[in-house]
Amino acid sequence: ENLANKIAAGEVVNRPESVVKELLENSIDAGAKNIQVVVKNAGKSLIQVIDDGSGMSEEDAILSIQRHATSKISTLEDLEAIKTFGFRGEALASIAAVSQFELRTKQINDELGTIIKIEETGEIIKEKDNLQAGTTISVKNLFYNVPARRNFLKSNSTELKHIIESFKKISLSHPEISFKFYNDDDLTFDLKACSLDERMKQIFADNILDVVLKVNEPTEYISLSGYVTKPNYLKRSKGEQYFFLNNRFVNSRIINHAVYTAFENILDKGDYPFFVLFLTIDPKKVDVNVHPSKLEVKFDDEREIYSFVNAVIRKTISSYDL
Ligand code: ADP
Ligand code: MG
Repeated sequence: ENLANKIAAGEVVNRPESVVKELLENSIDAGAKNIQVVVKNAGKSLIQVIDDGSGMSEEDAILSIQRHATSKISTLEDLEAIKTFGFRGEALASIAAVSQFELRTKQINDELGTIIKIEETGEIIKEKDNLQAGTTISVKNLFYNVPARRNFLKSNSTELKHIIESFKKISLSHPEISFKFYNDDDLTFDLKACSLDERMKQIFADNILDVVLKVNEPTEYISLSGYVTKPNYLKRSKGEQYFFLNNRFVNSRIINHAVYTAFENILDKGDYPFFVLFLTIDPKKVDVNVHPSKLEVKFDDEREIYSFVNAVIRKTISSYDL
């Protein structure tokens, strides 16, 4: 079982960023309103996520670190939803298998909280204590027991860049949640709960709304909203396309292409438009589990979606008086 966990871990956890992402997604799923992320040594020494979400009972806390023990799938309906959210119930087990792991959790109505630590031998130690409602997960010395992976980690600045990129994506799609991000004791981000517009300013720049066009095309079956850069503020950067499918960040070459071609006569070679776009469709019509990291997506009606996005962006651009 321990070996199986270590192997599975390779699929879910390949660097500190993936741990941060999985923990943040869990906190959001648990309904947290305030989330703090603490990283030390670019996440190599410590990744800690503190939330004020639902917390777990003692039973659930123990279950949560077993593989495929997710509490998020209980009906056939849910199985369909897996397609969107990629609930596979193995993130915590995977992370716990390759780190010095500690979980502290309490539900609001429980008198005492539960602390779970996992020893190097795999032994699970459980304690009860007075805790705040919510969950704190601490992941120390990631890959301490998998030297090949540990050695494969990049420089602190590279690993931190990935973590922050992930943090930005998640906080962009959840402006209603307040986030704090501490990097080696510095409070790098202090994001109060707000609107998407305000979160855009917090994440990108104070003047971001001056250089983007609003996109808003709700239909019965598919909706697109968010922002694309004004044609005269095109960026020469390929890393500034934020696409969220049913509010989860995904990489989609189809979508990128649909947006790029909408700019075709305006874009210079090597320029890419900045965008933050939210596409909402029926979860049954997409498959997010094409890749274990859940960042890639396959649409059932690829052509229709391409045409829709392309048409909406074209319309948005043409409504802007150059
Ligand atoms: P999944 O998110 O795919 O269900 P995880 O391994 O990420 O699998 O988490 C396992 C389970 O642990 C979750 O289904 C949830 O019930 C519980 N859990 C994990 N993190 C939290 C949290 N921060 N707050 C409350 N419950 C949590
Ligand atoms: Mg999860």
